[in-house]
Amino acid sequence: MDASALCRLSVALDLPAHLALGSVLTYLGERPLAAGTLVRVPLGKASHLGVVVGLADEAPLDGAEPTALRPVDEVLDATAPLNPAWLNLTRFAAHYYQRAWGEVMLAALPSHLRRLDATQWAAQVGKLKRGLASAPATPARPVAMPDLNAEQAAALRAWRAEAGATARPALLFGVTGSGKTEVYLRVVADALAAGTATAPSQVLVLVPEINLTPQLEARFAERFPGQAIVSLHSGLTPVQRLRAWLAAHTGQARIVLGTRMAVFASMPNLRLIVVDEEHDPSYKAQDGARHSARDLAVWRAQHEGARVLLGSATPSLESWAHAQNAGGVPMAGRRVGELAGSGRYQLLTLRERVASAPLPQVRLLDMNAPAATADESSRLIHPVALAALKACLARGEQSLVLLNRRGYAPVLHCGACGWKSECAHCSAWRVFHRTDRTLRCHHCGLTHRVPRACPECGNLDIKPLGHGTQKLEEQLAALLAQAPTAHGGPVRVARIDADSTRLKGSLQAQLAGVHAGEVDVLVGTQMVAKGHDFRRIRLVLVPEPDGALFSHDFRAAERLFALLMQAGGRAGRAGPEADAQSDATSELIVQTSFPTHPLFAALKGHDFEAFAAATLTERAQAGLPPHSHLALLRCEARTQAAAMAWLNAAFDAGQALLDQAAAPGVSLCPPVPAAMARLANVERAQLLVEAPRRAALQAFLRDWHAALHATSAALPQEVGRAVIRWAVDVDPQVI
Ligand SMILES: [Zn+2]
Ligand SMILES: [Zn+2]
Repeated sequence: MDASALCRLSVALDLPAHLALGSVLTYLGERPLAAGTLVRVPLGKASHLGVVVGLADEAPLDGAEPTALRPVDEVLDATAPLNPAWLNLTRFAAHYYQRAWGEVMLAALPSHLRRLDATQWAAQVGKLKRGLASAPATPARPVAMPDLNAEQAAALRAWRAEAGATARPALLFGVTGSGKTEVYLRVVADALAAGTATAPSQVLVLVPEINLTPQLEARFAERFPGQAIVSLHSGLTPVQRLRAWLAAHTGQARIVLGTRMAVFASMPNLRLIVVDEEHDPSYKAQDGARHSARDLAVWRAQHEGARVLLGSATPSLESWAHAQNAGGVPMAGRRVGELAGSGRYQLLTLRERVASAPLPQVRLLDMNAPAATADESSRLIHPVALAALKACLARGEQSLVLLNRRGYAPVLHCGACGWKSECAHCSAWRVFHRTDRTLRCHHCGLTHRVPRACPECGNLDIKPLGHGTQKLEEQLAALLAQAPTAHGGPVRVARIDADSTRLKGSLQAQLAGVHAGEVDVLVGTQMVAKGHDFRRIRLVLVPEPDGALFSHDFRAAERLFALLMQAGGRAGRAGPEADAQSDATSELIVQTSFPTHPLFAALKGHDFEAFAAATLTERAQAGLPPHSHLALLRCEARTQAAAMAWLNAAFDAGQALLDQAAAPGVSLCPPVPAAMARLANVERAQLLVEAPRRAALQAFLRDWHAALHATSAALPQEVGRAVIRWAVDVDPQVI
């Protein structure tokens, strides 16, 4: 070792928070290493993967003598270091979401990388290079591009008009079936064509669900033959994910398709990010840093000289407000955040469906009406809805019945003593699954055989209450058993939900069955409503949407509206060939006890803009996002009392900071138990922070977060021992 070349390196690691070491430690290197270099370093007795973030020669050594520093184990330098833009992205995300930089960085790298030494890493890199060299080059056969309609062409022109450093993020607002994907394909083609031989462009396309990647991948492969396309999502094996990540990192993958984790893909020549269904809640992570992939995509594009296109038929109100011209959103005289009507996003609109397939007619059925309350089956399926289902069968058309509750019945109940199938570990009921006669908690997984008799009183007559998709499937089959079908055989009812698609490949197989016309009535959860094209479906029935109208969560109605619009979009989403065969209009039937609710009026008119305007006004009056910014401090403990005691101390610490007027406008709500107060034997409580401006919220969170460690330490031991973990959720999606 040449002592004169020795240097001190700052290395970011994923360290457990309780070590309170921060996430950047100093090690001794034999030579200076560029920031972004992957290394293995010793910590305790183990060797850990880390990322060099700089030379630490200027940094204080915390009293440690240089000789006391441990040397780097080895350097994984078979590929170029992670680039400065990627380091910036992860540092920003860590800062914004109140996490350690090392944690965010290491979580963004493929987990398999943690298990490789330098030799194994070099072998993987070599394998990738050889694989690319030997892969038969797909001949670039000419692809017939469909003609754009006038709106698509106008959207593309407007997008191109904003090229350059001043280009804004764009929101493509297009009704389902309006051909958003074709616009994505065109802007991707533009971005790929703009690259150079030495720096070929890369494009990142985000989708909300893994299940949507195969059909999109096929579409991109067809349009861009000969371009390397990889997918990044949690359904890959660790080795598959490593290879896909590596292809992106080396610049060889030109198109990366992925779910929210892919927003952190290392892409040295990133030119464009497309976020499809940008409103989808699954873009917000519910663990780790709880980042929003959509929001980070916008930030990333702006900081890497790339462009970003968000697309949706029902944009999130945050994005929608950004895309309205200043003053375009009613403010109701309140002070508003920087989001509302800011004109920060370019708005591209597609109002027409391609091939002029009409939007489905929306019919509301009043479940308070006498016809709907006559008997049990009418309370489940309104007679008018049943007649519509039968008419579909007679015409040989498919229908979709959407119920967002899987299982047979949400709870089992004893009429004699009132026992219910409560979960022993959660504040939730265990769901009755009839197929395997089990009671399962959908939150912690606790599963038992269904008891023969009531466990409390021995009564043999225990009954399912309410219904899930399994029971709905059974009841629809019974209600339609005698109905004549166009194919002459008995009615074929099928179900697609998380239970029916547990096995790998089973969803694709079931969808193929639907596409092939082997199903007459499809029962499904929101999994089916999202993104899948069903050309033969002419009727969508939503029997029970009302729960979301009066939820404690202010975003529930927004999510319901998006789901109903999306579900309706499944109906009659026919390609030109199917349209030529049938001129029947498709229909969306919604059963509700609140038919005059404004949400349904907007739905009837397919009027997202009216819904958005009304909801934004309500949000402004209530001071809710996007007119304000929120964070949740969540605490998990062994007892509810400890969680509340901890949060009360945190509240006091926060209030003390606010009394020093450090962050104008920030306010704290008193702690409350979480909506689901107990999960897998862990008690949960939370405290909401509100601020009119993002900057004020961020400033407060930084100071508060720093103070919370001291607050924790000062609490009585029994509280400290009972608290399991706490974390800040910035911009929470579920309250
Ligand atoms: Zn009982
Ligand atoms: Zn449970």
